[in-house]
Amino acid sequence: MPSELKPCRVCGSESVSIFSVDDDTGSNRHDAICDVCGHRIYFAGDSKEEAILNWNLDSEEEDKPMVCSVCHMELQPGDEYLRIGDNFLEVKYFDSEEENLFCSEECLCRSLHVIRDEVPQKAKGGMK
Ligand SMILES: [Zn+2]
Ligand SMILES: [Zn+2]
Repeated sequence: MPSELKPCRVCGSESVSIFSVDDDTGSNRHDAICDVCGHRIYFAGDSKEEAILNWNLDSEEEDKPMVCSVCHMELQPGDEYLRIGDNFLEVKYFDSEEENLFCSEECLCRSLHVIRDEVPQKAKGGMK
């Protein structure tokens, strides 16, 4: 047996199976599947080893830390973060979900190019 399989990234179960599938082409395809929730990687590899490798890569992908899209600060578990909830902005403004992630109002405002301005002073006593 090569390297260990990582737990399922969806449900966290350690019960993961690699099995070979005979498809029409006759090539030896291996799928990786979680026995608990059914999360599955199709065509994970030609060999069992390759399938295991790809399953583990898939898990790592999900483990990457959440990062503020403006200052790139890594967020820790339990940290609060901000997201734009407006559907139009979500779809039209941000290219990806990762871009809609901010550590603070300051970063959010910077992302949206919020301009801080001052109300002009009124001349006291009117014009003379
Ligand atoms: Zn699972
Ligand atoms: Zn930030």
